[in-house]
Amino acid sequence: MKCLICSGDSAGEVCNKCIRLEKILYQKEWSYKEGMFIKKSEDYRIAISNMRISGRVAICDNPKGLNSRLDNMSHYLMNVKECTQVSYQGKKTLMIGIENSTGENAKYSRYCFLPGFDDVEQLVNAIFDAKKKAASLTERIRQSNGISTGAVEVTPTQTSADIKVSAPVAAPTPAPAASTTSSAAAAAAAKTVAPVSRPAAAPALAAPSTYDTVALSGIATDISEFETKIKKLKVLRDNGILSEEEYLEEKKKLVNIF
Ligand SMILES: [Zn+2]
Repeated sequence: MKCLICSGDSAGEVCNKCIRLEKILYQKEWSYKEGMFIKKSEDYRIAISNMRISGRVAICDNPKGLNSRLDNMSHYLMNVKECTQVSYQGKKTLMIGIENSTGENAKYSRYCFLPGFDDVEQLVNAIFDAKKKAASLTERIRQSNGISTGAVEVTPTQTSADIKVSAPVAAPTPAPAASTTSSAAAAAAAKTVAPVSRPAAAPALAAPSTYDTVALSGIATDISEFETKIKKLKVLRDNGILSEEEYLEEKKKLVNIF
């Protein structure tokens, strides 16, 4: 399998090297009792990072929720195609549709059901926000690996009408209400409103730069590590310990790892 981010060899959709740059942005655990007569409580979990969606949910190969199995899953975030409220075992339930249709990996569709999950809008909004971070991180990793793919597109996420998704964060514009009131009143209103809205807004604004810094420092470490190893190989070759062929072979292996 090839890593969907850097195209390197990988056991999963995202390779271990890329996973080192992963930052969890949202996660929640909950329990849900399933079954008609003998109710059995099961633990569920969902997490969104700047790369993946993962957790322990009911997984199906069909959107109807038939023959589901409770299991761990982990997918590249850009493969999240759909977040909709559906009927699952007779109850309104969030379904997350995941589809891989690109790259050299096998094409598949998978449907994850989150029964009893009550934080739907926060989760769906976290997915929308995290996709933007995943796009910029993917772009940066590819650039540092010398893969020029240009801008990485944020894949669309379909939602049902009953899930409110916040508008994409655009450049701040003055509130329309300000123009209908006097500027003094608007200023006074802004003063009283600002401290209330700040605690909620601040983490969202601060987050991207923090993650970017972490991602870049991770890449920088990898590159310097790579250079050190290449230098060592050159020394071995120059001293006749490695033949030219062996040197090229080892160098090739290194390039594949990094
Ligand atoms: Zn990778």
